[in-house]
Amino acid sequence: MIIDCHGHYTTAPKELQAFRDAQIAGNDNPGPLKITDDQIRESIEKGQLKMQQERGSDLTVFSPRAAGMGHHIGTATTSQIWTENCNNLIQRVVKLFPKNFIGVAQLPQTPGVPPANCIPELERCVKEMNFIGCNLNPDPSGGKWNDPPMTDKKWWYPFYEKMVELDVPAMVHVSMSCNPNFHTTGAHYINGDTTAFMQFIMSDIFKDFPTLKFIIPHGGGAVPYHWGRYRGLAQDQKRPPFSELVLKNVFFDTCVYHQPGIDLLTKVIPVDNILFASEMIGAVRGIDPETGHHFDDTKRYIDAAALSAEDKQKIFEGNVKKVFPRFAAAYAKQN
Ligand SMILES: [Zn+2]
Repeated sequence: MIIDCHGHYTTAPKELQAFRDAQIAGNDNPGPLKITDDQIRESIEKGQLKMQQERGSDLTVFSPRAAGMGHHIGTATTSQIWTENCNNLIQRVVKLFPKNFIGVAQLPQTPGVPPANCIPELERCVKEMNFIGCNLNPDPSGGKWNDPPMTDKKWWYPFYEKMVELDVPAMVHVSMSCNPNFHTTGAHYINGDTTAFMQFIMSDIFKDFPTLKFIIPHGGGAVPYHWGRYRGLAQDQKRPPFSELVLKNVFFDTCVYHQPGIDLLTKVIPVDNILFASEMIGAVRGIDPETGHHFDDTKRYIDAAALSAEDKQKIFEGNVKKVFPRFAAAYAKQN
């Protein structure tokens, strides 16, 4: 089985955006969301399912559109209502296509509000809707970074306690940028990935939570390319080696859109810490004229990488099942 651990419902019917537009205009609860099963089927069959079939993957770990989370918009109530609706839609996709998708939750974060307020929605998604993880935004302000770092005990630890209790990992995933200096998917996303890793290596977060797991998407931002810099910075601060400090807890996905990037990722990062992902129909949708294939058809790069069949199997399947401990039971339950 080939599992893509990073997919968003970027092809949701337009009624979802109309709901959001009404929220942005000041109506916190413009519901109920009027989207039919046929609309969902059409959006998936012509979108992500078609891509899975064309590219040879079997299953996508699926969450609401990341740029659309927009945690900075409105109040905590706005975020709560928006998040519930987005997560419910993911559950409907999974119910219609239980072999091809499994759910991951958006969280109702809000700048200035401690993430503990997301615990009830995480519990609802995991316990009632069979989701296996969540997307956690390290910067709900959308590019201002004015809440405490992800390693702040008072701010973040109560939420991590719940993640550990439920045995779900989080993908560290920012949303849209509202700072014009940072392009959303070209700069803000990569900044978010890199920033989270640097925070992790300077803290004792994984000493405090030995089973807490994070996936850093987009190939880990700048981290693999600058692995020597990060190892050196950690060493200067008398931090333990990465094998002890982060590699039992932090994983990188393969949303890197060219062969040399994947070759570097797989050479630098231990194979046990790499999870297959494409984020298809996402930030980069075009065809690379140098290869004739879609930039985000990342399976091709893994196929072509200088790795053993056993290592490729870990990246495509084994590691995903390990990092999402609820996967096996949740997948069996929905099928
Ligand atoms: Zn994403």
